[in-house]
Amino acid sequence: MTVREILHVGNPLLRERSREVTRQELAAPPMQQLIDDLIDTMHAANGAGIAAPQVGELVRIATIEVNRNPRYPYKPPIPLTVVVNPVIEPLDDELVEVNEGCLSVPNMRGNVYRHVNVRVRYWDRHGNEHDEVKRGLTAGTFQHECDHLDGLLFLDRVHDTRTLTTWEQFERFHRAAFVERITEFVARVGS
Ligand code: ZN
Repeated sequence: MTVREILHVGNPLLRERSREVTRQELAAPPMQQLIDDLIDTMHAANGAGIAAPQVGELVRIATIEVNRNPRYPYKPPIPLTVVVNPVIEPLDDELVEVNEGCLSVPNMRGNVYRHVNVRVRYWDRHGNEHDEVKRGLTAGTFQHECDHLDGLLFLDRVHDTRTLTTWEQFERFHRAAFVERITEFVARVGS
């Protein structure tokens, strides 16, 4: 088990575009080790996901998993998913305003708009191709992780900086209203 150091906002590596991985690279031990490290680091930090540039590796790989996450208890479960070279495509114009945080942006949350319905194509860690539709908060989680691969942070998508809060002030002043709205949304969209 290897928990890697997570880079924080201000580190220039978080602002780079990560490169695609070849099938040959993916099959080799260093990239498989990186995937194991990402999973361990995500688990240790209670993240809903983590992308390779967050540990300083500029390759298009991210891991996602939601299973009664203490940071985001309202998020529907997502089985452990490794995405390699993901491509995300919105399926329509429907957007949802969600409150996000990020392991690379310590103690800060803010509201961003995410597409509700997306198609995501990616390889898993064995190089098998996947072509799936993701909806709701799950779609948002995939968009957040894929943004990292293009050097984007949720901060860049915060449309109203007055929604920025520390985690403590979110709990104190905003959590109840957000959880009520987003729970209705999850019940309607189903994920
Ligand atoms: Zn993040």
